[in-house]
Amino acid sequence: MARIVMKFGGTSVADPERIRNAAARVKREVEAGNEVAVVVSAMAGATNQLVAWCQEMSPLHDAREYDTVVATGEQVTSGLLAIALQHVGIEARSWQGWQIPIRTDGAHGKARIDAIEGAELIRRMRDLRQVAVVTGFQGLGPDHRVTTLGRGGSDTSAVALAAALAADRCDIYTDVEGVFTTDPRIVAKARKLDKIAYEEMLELASVGAKVLQTRSVELAMKEKVRVQVLSSFTDAPGTLVVDEDEIVEKALVAGIAYSRDEAKITIRRVPDRPGIAAAIFGPLAGAAINVDMIVQNVAADGTTDMTFTVPKADLPRAEATLAGIKDAIGYAEITADRDVAKVSVVGVGMRSHAGVASTMFRTLAEKGINIQVISTSEIKVSVLIGAEYIELAVRALHTAYGLDAA
Ligand code: ADP
Ligand code: ASP
Ligand code: MG
Repeated sequence: MARIVMKFGGTSVADPERIRNAAARVKREVEAGNEVAVVVSAMAGATNQLVAWCQEMSPLHDAREYDTVVATGEQVTSGLLAIALQHVGIEARSWQGWQIPIRTDGAHGKARIDAIEGAELIRRMRDLRQVAVVTGFQGLGPDHRVTTLGRGGSDTSAVALAAALAADRCDIYTDVEGVFTTDPRIVAKARKLDKIAYEEMLELASVGAKVLQTRSVELAMKEKVRVQVLSSFTDAPGTLVVDEDEIVEKALVAGIAYSRDEAKITIRRVPDRPGIAAAIFGPLAGAAINVDMIVQNVAADGTTDMTFTVPKADLPRAEATLAGIKDAIGYAEITADRDVAKVSVVGVGMRSHAGVASTMFRTLAEKGINIQVISTSEIKVSVLIGAEYIELAVRALHTAYGLDAA
């Protein structure tokens, strides 16, 4: 007997038929003698619709009200899955974040989980054999209002719940059979990985592989939660996220990720003096905007051009913040480009082998793709390119690093 948290993503609960399919999988685990808690996402597309409605009401909407709106998607699926389970004879009860409670910080729209009160759920699991169906993505903030955890946040809800319940496993059911060498939807030759190291998964997630939310991997690594990614539509074995030393053959590049979520901002003719970067990035951080890649070109006339990327969704706020400090800083102008995308190659093998970056640059050059910004970390190289080249770039790199399936 094991204690398992099963998480079903949006496509796995997209309609009543799929919710019945998820219920059948839960039933199978319960009937095998396991204690099960479930975390659900909203139906596929539901959260996008809710976000779009907030945008339509006002592009610079109040984050508390955004959370009030977007948290509703998960409420629907938790209730429906509980009904589906009861219908097939499984004792089940739905729970929203505030009912457990799942306590978060007050960063509305991108809150972090602080604590989950697990005792009551454990009691019901153990004594009543009751399955808790918990809403992913949402929690309760210090202001006693509903918070949400950022897009893809149900993965994090699941891992946090698994840690709070001391679960033996956290199974993330999704619409692909595991973690692949790159997004199998754009590269047909992508290969499924049996195992991936926490560090690699963390880096891939943080640069755009949305199969797991970054924070969920961070948490799994810290709390030593055994995470498995697998399909809710087939019974194929999935991908285990494991410690690096459990992987015998370490590939130079484990995977390639891309992100269309970035926008590029250039601030032209900034005075080149000490403190200027702090004067720009301080207010952006204060507005909770995550700046990613940064380059600075020094001009001969004592000014500099500063280029960096921010999440596309944060671009209006970033522009507003920068407009507010124009006089204090004294730059000439700001330009923004939304037609950019970032492609990254990731692998722990890079720590001990040179040449990964040069292979990347050569491959892109051969395809005539211009590199706009570069950034690196110990196990990653990222480049910013024109959005129209992203699929071409990912496919070419996948081949160049020898990742194509036979
Ligand atoms: P869910 O709704 O189940 O949370 P997501 O859409 O958030 O599912 O994540 C699964 C998707 O992640 C897949 O459909 C796939 O297109 C995408 N993806 C991106 N990179 C990868 C990768 N390296 N391996 C597997 N899937 C990936
Ligand atoms: N429903 C939320 C989203 O679409 C959370 C999730 O699915 O993980 O971002
Ligand atoms: Mg997801």
